[in-house]
Amino acid sequence: MIVSFNPATEETLASFEPHEGSAIESRLAAAHRAQRAWAATALPDRLALLRRVAARLRDQKASLGLTIALEMGKPLVEAVGEVEKCAWNFDYYAEAAPAMLADEVVASSASDSRIVRDPLGLVLAVMPWNYPLWQVMRAAAPVLAAGNGLVLKHASNVPQCALAIEAVFRDAGAPEGLVTTLLVGAAQVPALIADERIAAVTFTGSTPAGRSIAAAAGQALKKQVLELGGSDPFIVLADADLETAAAVGVKARFQNTGQSCIAAKRFIVEQSVADRFVEAFCEQARRLVVGDPLAAGTTQGAMARANLRDDLHAQVQASLNEGATLCLGGRPVPGRGVFYEPTVLDHVKPAMTAAREETFGPAAAIVRVRDAGEAVAVANGTPFGLGAALWTRDLDRARTLARQVEAGAVFVNGLVASDPRLPFGGIKASGYGRELGRLGLHEFTNAKTVWTG
Ligand code: NAP
Repeated sequence: MIVSFNPATEETLASFEPHEGSAIESRLAAAHRAQRAWAATALPDRLALLRRVAARLRDQKASLGLTIALEMGKPLVEAVGEVEKCAWNFDYYAEAAPAMLADEVVASSASDSRIVRDPLGLVLAVMPWNYPLWQVMRAAAPVLAAGNGLVLKHASNVPQCALAIEAVFRDAGAPEGLVTTLLVGAAQVPALIADERIAAVTFTGSTPAGRSIAAAAGQALKKQVLELGGSDPFIVLADADLETAAAVGVKARFQNTGQSCIAAKRFIVEQSVADRFVEAFCEQARRLVVGDPLAAGTTQGAMARANLRDDLHAQVQASLNEGATLCLGGRPVPGRGVFYEPTVLDHVKPAMTAAREETFGPAAAIVRVRDAGEAVAVANGTPFGLGAALWTRDLDRARTLARQVEAGAVFVNGLVASDPRLPFGGIKASGYGRELGRLGLHEFTNAKTVWTG
């Protein structure tokens, strides 16, 4: 069974029979037929659907937000914000896609030569639970705008979100099957990738799962985009606005209960200002209100699953055993629900667990460094390369340092966040390919050269 479970109350919400055999087959067949027709649908008609989806999401933001909050434990207000962001993404691509998909005329010896953008076909989306609507919808809008279809294999702990997504498209008037949810476990993914009706794969999730998907897609010679784990550095230089950096840093680490790929995980702070930064940071973190995701005023909800809390707690304890010091928190919240105290570890060294591994929950690691050079070296001393933040008042220096940081995005004096207008993705063990922006839309197109003599 695929079980929907409320981590804040530890109650089962619903159970679903997984799709098997003939159910998978008929859904894939319908998706394939729908995509063929969709590819032949005029672009303005495709974009009209995107606008209707945006409107539907806005209309239903309260109920969709509630489904998200109940199923994975984030505060309701954050969940509703997530739905609004999905709507923005659909409106953005409805507006921007014509320019992105326009033919590109290239001068050559031909009388006319150009690059046209054709769809690839059905894209399999294997998605995580942490932003259960956003992760799917950020992939879906450009995929559909380009004339592809989407088959969704969502994380097994968010089946209600997965079904709600399918319903949003149905209610918005999408052709039957164009966006299809398969309620299946991870074990089904290699067979889906190998299926000849699947043209490409977009995956968001952990690095180990990404390796498996890359291997299966490599074997089948299918295009993939991999958005994997991260251990983002948040570099604070001595001339930074420390109060603002601390306030934004707390948001960057603790929003979504710390369960974000682009959460700031390693706070790399110049020694000369470290005491002041840590004091301001802990002061802000102490103000977090942990509790019922549905209650007004809650700023940190439940973690999504008990095993994730166990993993985080083991990392915190290992780091303390290795010599880190505890400024705040450090324990599961006793009682019902999968809650964890906002936790701040100071004097973390690059070789300690909290700096070496991705921490996917509400625990910040402070690493003190001598200077900017050491800060960049520590920032890069990780297998990951997703996002990074850099805090300094010297913007010229920031632009130079930003080029030295090994990451898919560097945000100077701001919160690392995805934005439909800007490409999003990683390097190294954080994956490859890009979502969002123009690059994201182009990932799942065939850039076809048409040469006319
Ligand atoms: P996960 O365990 O990798 O699961 C993600 C999805 O992959 C789920 O649908 C899961 O299905 C499936 N899956 C798991 N193992 C698989 C395998 N061997 N082969 C095929 N599919 C497999 O990740 P998670 O715990 O849900 O999410 C947290 C991770 O995602 C973190 O590392 C985080 O940094 C990363 N993440 C990255 C981004 C980004 O944009 N770069 C965004 C969000 C999250 P089941 O649920 O059925 O197991």
